[in-house]
Amino acid sequence: MFDLLKQACESARNAGCEFADARFLAIHKQRVISRDHALAGCSDSDDRGFGVRVLYNGAWGFASSPTYTAAEVERVVGLALRIARASAMALRGGGVHWAPESAQTLEYRSSCAVDPFEVPLEDKADLLISANEVMLNNPSVVRAQGFLSFKRVQRWYANTDGAEMHSDVTSSEATIWAIAVGNDDFQQRNWRAPASSRGFEAYPKQDFLVEAERVAAEAEEKLSAKLAPEGEFDIVTDPENLSLTIHESVGHATELDRVMGYEVSLAGASFVTRDKMGEFRYGSEAVTLMADNTLEHGLATQGFDDDGVPGQRWEIVKDGIFQTYSSGREFAHYIGEERSRGACRADHWSSIPIVRIPNLFLMPGQEPLTPEELIGDVGHGLYFEGMDSFSIDQWRLNFQFGGNAVWEIRNGRKAGMLKAALYQSRTPSFWNACDATCDERFWQPHGVTNCGKGDPMQVAQMTHGAAPTRFRKIHICRGRDA
Ligand SMILES: [Zn+2]
Repeated sequence: MFDLLKQACESARNAGCEFADARFLAIHKQRVISRDHALAGCSDSDDRGFGVRVLYNGAWGFASSPTYTAAEVERVVGLALRIARASAMALRGGGVHWAPESAQTLEYRSSCAVDPFEVPLEDKADLLISANEVMLNNPSVVRAQGFLSFKRVQRWYANTDGAEMHSDVTSSEATIWAIAVGNDDFQQRNWRAPASSRGFEAYPKQDFLVEAERVAAEAEEKLSAKLAPEGEFDIVTDPENLSLTIHESVGHATELDRVMGYEVSLAGASFVTRDKMGEFRYGSEAVTLMADNTLEHGLATQGFDDDGVPGQRWEIVKDGIFQTYSSGREFAHYIGEERSRGACRADHWSSIPIVRIPNLFLMPGQEPLTPEELIGDVGHGLYFEGMDSFSIDQWRLNFQFGGNAVWEIRNGRKAGMLKAALYQSRTPSFWNACDATCDERFWQPHGVTNCGKGDPMQVAQMTHGAAPTRFRKIHICRGRDA
């Protein structure tokens, strides 16, 4: 498989390119969707092709094709070169500064005990429909739905440094949800089985049946929930809820290409300017946010990135102080770093790699602390579980987040459910209000599979994580009138 990729790099080198790389991808995807007592859809796709990226006189050219032959490889290299030459004519200034990387031979395979593509469709249908039937047993539930989604990406990568790398990553995702109607209202409650780089072994049927019953009961309970109070309250977030807040307020804010203005036209910029490195108080001392593209079962763990840089682990925020960014080989020089952090990924063989959020998580507390003890120190507050609507501004500064289920906390205990609650804050104010997070026994990963970025849009996946975490005096508002 490497021969034609190496041929592409050789041709680009002979044509005078400073650097070139070539990737071949085989992508197998399957999605199974259920609604009530039946399957509502099933898709299965197998998609293969290669892309060639060349750096010529400081400018990029990229081209790709689904036809993997020697003649087509030559044509694609030629097209990438023409694009690079044309781009170089428009360059003002020095062009791309490409961080060096030693040539490596690398093989990475994710652990997958039960290949999801080998599991019969009947078993997948049975899993989803059985869960739906449990949800529909609840008389308030009018609709039960679910999906299973599987992806296997095999990737071969070569570049003019001499790197030869291969990865084989299988990932899985599942969600079930119930819609309840009553009390002049309708409410939805879901359970996301954490998406991860694992196989079908991640989804025991018994888990689905237990969670289905809880999801249905909580959808029903939401119908009679009180309207959330407004004002300043202490809040506790569960790992899934905080994963989205980490993603939006830390992950995107610390992508170096975004900081340098490369995303302004579509996704916005960032308040985390370069002068903040090593100095800015992002959060309280309880806040250490770790990037880790070596995390076991992490969705961004793929051995190496699409710049040919091996996966790494580094601190984005340490004891509350901002340390450094996620970067690729094109961007490291902007912050005086000699080496990329290995966070440049493309979502397809026809996509050019861009800086992506790594696996990124809040480190658990170092002192023993249970969720009961965490909540026990809240007089009147709110407990947020799961994800709901959110928004954040183009500087990744002002935001609001909801939860799929929210409980009132009274005198140190979870009381009844609340409707329409949102927490609203500014990124540094929020993270500085964090006063405790539970210890590692309660830490959970949560995969994100729909992170959109780039123009044209690319969709990436990565894993976040946290233990239940407490924030003091956060503004609560209502997401809707009732
Ligand atoms: Zn995102």
